Amino acid sequence: MTYCQRTLEHAIKRNPCDPEFIQSIKEVLGSLEPVMDANPRYEELGILERFIEPERQIIFRVSWTDDSGKVHVNRGFRIQFNSTIGPYKGGLRFHPSVYIGIMKFLAFEQVLKNSLTGLPIGGGKGGSDFDPKGKSDAEVMRFCQSFMTELSRHIGGDLDVPAGDIGVGAREIGFLYGQYKRIKNVSEGVLTGKGITYGGSLVRKEATGYGLVYFLEEMLKSKNLDIKGKKVVISGSGNVAIHAAQKIQQSGGTVIAMSDSSGYIYNPDGINIEMVKAGKEIERKSIKECPFPSKGTEFNGSCREIWQLKCDIALPCATENELDEQAAQTLVKNGCIAVAEGANMPCTPGAIKVFLKNKVLYGPGKAANAGGVATSAIEMQQNSMRMFWSFDEVEAKLKEIMINIYKKSSNAAKEYGFEGNLMAGANIAGFLKVADAMIAQGIV
Ligand code: NDP
Repeated sequence: MTYCQRTLEHAIKRNPCDPEFIQSIKEVLGSLEPVMDANPRYEELGILERFIEPERQIIFRVSWTDDSGKVHVNRGFRIQFNSTIGPYKGGLRFHPSVYIGIMKFLAFEQVLKNSLTGLPIGGGKGGSDFDPKGKSDAEVMRFCQSFMTELSRHIGGDLDVPAGDIGVGAREIGFLYGQYKRIKNVSEGVLTGKGITYGGSLVRKEATGYGLVYFLEEMLKSKNLDIKGKKVVISGSGNVAIHAAQKIQQSGGTVIAMSDSSGYIYNPDGINIEMVKAGKEIERKSIKECPFPSKGTEFNGSCREIWQLKCDIALPCATENELDEQAAQTLVKNGCIAVAEGANMPCTPGAIKVFLKNKVLYGPGKAANAGGVATSAIEMQQNSMRMFWSFDEVEAKLKEIMINIYKKSSNAAKEYGFEGNLMAGANIAGFLKVADAMIAQGIV
């Protein structure tokens, strides 16, 4: 058995109830075999065992009262996975499906993603099984205040800097930041995704979606293709999906479908993205309730069926394991040429195999959606320097970072015998930087 295989067995034994975490470890270790062969020092120094074990896992009670005075109890999490190259950095997710296994997988992915950005940020992730859907603003505020009352003991501008993720947008970040400042009595860049009037950065809101499209452009360029005239299907209609859709449109593509957990909307001539944005972001409606002024827009009540639509490009931007092997086969059969992941781990291992086997360009989330965290790091830089950069300045930095992530992933794939496989390349390039820094810092 190889070092990678033994490490996987070890991980399965130690994390028997965390299938998503094991899925992400398995994918990464599958790419690292040639790296371990080329450098036996990693095994001598127990790098893989240390790399897959979080530095710290925090679980806490979050009690809050609803508008009628009833007491509710949720569970809060923060996984501080790896701080070798900088302060822990990664979002907070509020969704009923949140449990420790999802938190660990997201934090583990974040370590590699943050390394790929080239910026000095370690990896972490957190959240709660709280569901903001259907709650009043006052209930969300009370929940956020209770959550931050405990979390504030564990984070700080140079220690751990959370941001948003599913269910945590501008409203939640505002409530969380206000409570942190009240408890700690300092104004520091402890959260990113803040409002522009109190330390936020321009482009942060758009960054994951825009960055995804910049990465996609690089993938297409490698085959002398571009976005112009392409039909694009995007799952989700949250922060990542909406801004990816806007950028696709600006680049000359047509977004023919978008979804949420209630189903998907489809219009072969292009859906009205601004209308979806207004309905989802401002009015907090489900996609089926968004008004569709553009003629010919249809609604289908099964969000998973979105992948049956014929398209040139698919951008899964909703959640993990939303695109399975069967959906991948349908996309291939329908002539899809590229898939880039806006969400974290949205394609199952079976789906990824289908894409690689059929030479569909495949951009893994840890590389393709790294624009959000990269721009968060740019927000941290502005906070530390008490500076504020223009939209164009930040967007130019974001674009450069995404192009570099593509190059690093593509070059590492080539160097280690996986030419054309950006998933393996991203895993290797992300790992090498952290592993070498871990060696330099001794056995800790
Ligand atoms: P949001 O909460 O803004 O949006 C999530 C969207 O996905 C909503 O439209 C939601 O629908 C939809 N959704 C959730 N589950 C499903 C499902 N099973 N099928 C179809 N749609 C579904 O989250 P984000 O846009 O911020 O995050 C989306 C993904 O991107 C996540 O995987 C996240 O980890 C990842 N990501 C986010 C980053 C960021 O900067 N925000 C950075 C990097 C990655 P509904 O409204 O009905 O719940």
